[in-house]
Amino acid sequence: MSIFDQIASNQHEQLVFCHDPVSGLRAIIGIHDTTLGPALGGTRMRVYKSEQAAITDVLRLSRGMTYKSAVTGLNLGGGKAVIIGDPRQDKCEALFRSYGRFVESLNGRYTTAEDMGTGVADMEWVRMETDHVVGISAQLGGSDDPSPVTAMGTYEGMKAAARRKYGSESLQGKTIAVQGVGHVGYYLVQHLAREGARILISDVNEEAIATCVKEFGVEVVGLDDIYDAEMDIYAPCAIGATINDDTIDRLKCSIVAGSANNVLLDEDRHGMRLVERGILYCPDYVINAGGLINVANELEGYNQKRALSQAAAIHDTIRDILELASEKGIPPFRAANEIAERRIRRMGQVKSTFLGPRERKYRGIC
Ligand code: NAD
Repeated sequence: MSIFDQIASNQHEQLVFCHDPVSGLRAIIGIHDTTLGPALGGTRMRVYKSEQAAITDVLRLSRGMTYKSAVTGLNLGGGKAVIIGDPRQDKCEALFRSYGRFVESLNGRYTTAEDMGTGVADMEWVRMETDHVVGISAQLGGSDDPSPVTAMGTYEGMKAAARRKYGSESLQGKTIAVQGVGHVGYYLVQHLAREGARILISDVNEEAIATCVKEFGVEVVGLDDIYDAEMDIYAPCAIGATINDDTIDRLKCSIVAGSANNVLLDEDRHGMRLVERGILYCPDYVINAGGLINVANELEGYNQKRALSQAAAIHDTIRDILELASEKGIPPFRAANEIAERRIRRMGQVKSTFLGPRERKYRGIC
């Protein structure tokens, strides 16, 4: 398929190829949709099998960001970028500063952040060339670790699902299995312990397990046993694709609510199977949007209290999604997509009213 056909098939606005012979930079920035505001999304650095694989990735990821921002109620569009290279070998100041200059050249249409293969230090290089970067360190006025905010959104989303499933959002006495007690899982367990839930955990990292056992008195289950555990809620907070052909019929829970990305190996097939089994699934890209909310907060001057309270609103977003999914008999991720698309459509119409001389200024700050 030609590049323009690929752009058109996902309704992307722009695909930017960036090349710098000095640093060896080869990057692609995808801007999917800016109806709601400037595109925001991280920069991933990795080795790709082919240039086509990098293009496919950036198109898929930037489109996902449009939906994530829209459903979360942020005034942001969807963008994402990839730097083609090995993050263990190819990083240097010139590479990220050169990349920063390309981001700057987009004049605010795209704001970047860290993602897989890039980190806070890389974004500090990017920031030397552009203001259109978030996810920088607290010392530089940034938001630092997003995990407490992501965990807050996950916890609140879980409570909304509990209300729908059990008629009460109290998690007291509920058995909740948290897979992965790293950055997000740890803070999630903290919320759940405070509320009096019975918590099961699994992790490949013995130290992470020991910390949670000591601090919260949780029970430990084996890496594979977690799928067979008697539990009310399964909270995947480690890796993707843990709901797959091997695990889906073993799950004894009635809710899936965790921070991990791409929880369903096959969104359609496994999403539908969860519906058939009567298991409520909180779409991953919605329930883990606290991470995005956290960095987006930097655009207005970072304030963790505000970020936490915005993340807590994921509660109502999940409530609305589950309600629509049940009304229409569709999987929740489809309902989430519909809500996102409806918001983009409606706000696009609202923004079509001409504002006179203020128009340009308004567009600049939206
Ligand atoms: P992390 O790396 O800090 O924690 C992941 C934990 O999972 C680690 O303790 C690791 O040892 C454990 N783990 C790895 N494989 C495992 C397995 N097979 N079984 C059980 N445990 C396993 O990552 P994190 O920042 O806590 O993020 C967790 C998930 O949430 C990831 O999928 C991430 O993409 C997603 N997410 C995180 C954020 C954030 O703010 N950190 C935001 C959005 C989404």
